[in-house]
Amino acid sequence: MEARAQPNAKSRVLVPTMGALHKAHGELIRVARQAAGQDGEVAVSIFVNPLQFEPGSDFERYPRPEKGDEEFCRNAGVDFLFRPSIEEVYSPDRSTFVEETSLSSRFESESRPGHFRGVCTVVAKLFNIVAPDAAVFGEKDFQQLAIVRRMVRDLNFNVDIIAVPTIREKDGLACSSRNQYLNPDEREQATVLYKALEAASNAGKKSANDIAALARQVISDAPLARIDHVELVDAESLQPIEMAGPNSVLLLAVFLGKTRLIDNMRLS
Ligand code: AMP
Repeated sequence: MEARAQPNAKSRVLVPTMGALHKAHGELIRVARQAAGQDGEVAVSIFVNPLQFEPGSDFERYPRPEKGDEEFCRNAGVDFLFRPSIEEVYSPDRSTFVEETSLSSRFESESRPGHFRGVCTVVAKLFNIVAPDAAVFGEKDFQQLAIVRRMVRDLNFNVDIIAVPTIREKDGLACSSRNQYLNPDEREQATVLYKALEAASNAGKKSANDIAALARQVISDAPLARIDHVELVDAESLQPIEMAGPNSVLLLAVFLGKTRLIDNMRLS
């Protein structure tokens, strides 16, 4: 039985973001348009979600270029920009949260406790508010993508999740709104994440230990870089695996100064 079938219903595709839109968001919007079709609707949400920022993190200073984001959406042909206030999203006495409890247990959660509870809660709310048929997420946030897919499966959300490969600057650095925190030296050395992923991908090494050692060695060439984690995992379960294979992905989190950057690459 198709619960959603409505004759002539337009398809609606949502791109959830925190704003400070850049070319990767532009690619997500392009993919959303492709999925929605010319007659469908592309919605972008911009919400800097306080629930997913741990205490003492960059919630206050997260960039919020409101006019620039509006123009970006207009130029990208977005039909509907949803930019709610915190009060519109959260009741002061809220007491219901959405929590994924397996894939969330490691990696980002180790430095950002409660982060994915915040992400799942707001994504679930956005799905209920905007009621999209599909939503587009980037592979740059690999753990987030896996968790959102799991939440959709486990809670029977009727939303297709569309993944977009990581969009990079010319020198390989994954586009991120947080790249603007980097000073010129940090920005230059930030390419070390991509270099490490490339080296690991090209080395033909298969054991997780060898791959992690190689990536660590490349990153250590950048004096301003400090490794948070480097780990080879299964792309679906996110469990550590011993050997690279068709379903393996190398996850990186590295500090450049105070800025924590993440990246990943599938290794086969
Ligand atoms: P953000 O605004 O950073 O929360 O990101 C909104 C969406 O854009 C998420 O699904 C991210 O995974 C995705 N995204 C951000 N940066 C990139 C990138 N460099 N490549 C692909 N997707 C990205």
